Amino acid sequence: MRISVDPDRCQGHAQCLSAAPELFGFDDEAEHALPLQEKVPAGQEPVARRAAAACPERAITLTD
Ligand code: SF4
Repeated sequence: MRISVDPDRCQGHAQCLSAAPELFGFDDEAEHALPLQEKVPAGQEPVARRAAAACPERAITLTD
């Protein structure tokens, strides 16, 4: 599973960081979230799905 954040949609609410701090960081300068790694580590898929569902802007995309 791969994870990406659309910087145009992201509004910096940081719910993704709260839901999955092991998967997301924050670019303070650009004021949007970033995946810490493009590929979701094995076993972290449910956490990634929870984080994507928590994003109010639907800025997180998960692909298999
Ligand atoms: S929850 Fe969504 S809008 Fe908020 S920082 Fe994360 S990706 Fe951006």
